[in-house]
Amino acid sequence: MAHAWDVPAPEAGSVVRPNAAGLGRQELGSLLGSLGEPAWRGGQLFSGLLRQRWTRWEQFSNLSKTLRARLETEVDLAWPAIVQSQTSSDGSTKHVFQLGDSRQVEGVHMPYDDRVTLCLSSQVGCAMGCTFCATGQMGIIRNLSAAEIVGQVMAMLLHHEHPADRPVNLVFMGMGEPLHNFDHLMAAFTTLTDPDGLAIPPRRITVSTSGLVSGIERLGTFAKRPRLALSLNGTTDEHRSRIMPVNRVWNLEALATALAHFPLQSGERITLEYVLLKGHTDGQEDGRRLAAFARRFPAKVNLIPFNPHEGSGFEAPEEARISALCKLLSEAEVPVSVRRSRGQDVAGACGQLVREGQPRHPKTR
Ligand code: SAH
Ligand code: SF4
Repeated sequence: MAHAWDVPAPEAGSVVRPNAAGLGRQELGSLLGSLGEPAWRGGQLFSGLLRQRWTRWEQFSNLSKTLRARLETEVDLAWPAIVQSQTSSDGSTKHVFQLGDSRQVEGVHMPYDDRVTLCLSSQVGCAMGCTFCATGQMGIIRNLSAAEIVGQVMAMLLHHEHPADRPVNLVFMGMGEPLHNFDHLMAAFTTLTDPDGLAIPPRRITVSTSGLVSGIERLGTFAKRPRLALSLNGTTDEHRSRIMPVNRVWNLEALATALAHFPLQSGERITLEYVLLKGHTDGQEDGRRLAAFARRFPAKVNLIPFNPHEGSGFEAPEEARISALCKLLSEAEVPVSVRRSRGQDVAGACGQLVREGQPRHPKTR
């Protein structure tokens, strides 16, 4: 029989142990501080986790045996678990990550000859409600922590046994609106670019936004920042507001002004992503307005044929329409490429002016 003074035993799993995986350098220092260790050892933990890619405390040869034993009993080292992986014929793999609270997000590993591109999620769900997007239909569930963002990268690199000397590109084009999770995004960016860790160059990281002007302006104030991609997807306010509710807050003119003021490095261009929805965004008039928008600042256009998903009510246009838009943009001297949902970006349809590829779109749901 239970007595009033009985203290209930903790339920299984209710005792939360700290997890070092994905924490920033300072957080690791504080964690060690809480164990009575000097905070500067956080740097040793940081490089062991991200540069050496050690996955068990016993491997941390840069720490004393006693500290390793203590970490073993008191601190987890757990990257997000990959619970589902789907590899397509082109070699890209979509992974589903299990987060600590049973939520899941997706990431995509896309190997190319000279590099690998990882597509990352920034939130569970998304608040922006774009009508053509499967994530938008989920609504927002929560932000990812910086550790969970870094965790997706490490989980994919470890899973694919990525060689340390092979360049890594990161694109925030998975689930969520990265600029809606600004602080965690930038904390993850700091960790991912740290020379003692993965040391990914900032120019290899691209953040795609649906057009949060406040976030774009804030990003522009950072001397060290990722590259910017804007999901344009509509060329009139009337239409863009219909498919992207964010346009009712910041319209095309507000966007163009923010992008024209965004401080770019020499040679840097803003990517304009443009989803092609049959009968909605694929006409020649759309193309002319798209070209005019793209010429207001250094830009390159990435055309993304719609990736169908259940209940969306949209379709991808025919190839002829895609080629015609490519031609129009090329003739307007706007660099353009086409992103294929399966297979690498194809320059063929676009002719000679296609300069640069972007990874194919990860939204394969
Ligand atoms: N929230 C950010 C980043 C994630 S979405 C943003 O919107 O930019 C990444 C890209 O996928 C965006 O350019 C978006 O327009 C595009 N997208 C969303 N759903 C799509 C679909 N079903 N088919 C093709 N592209 C899609
Ligand atoms: Fe969110 Fe981007 Fe999807 Fe829009 S397109 S709902 S911003 S993830």
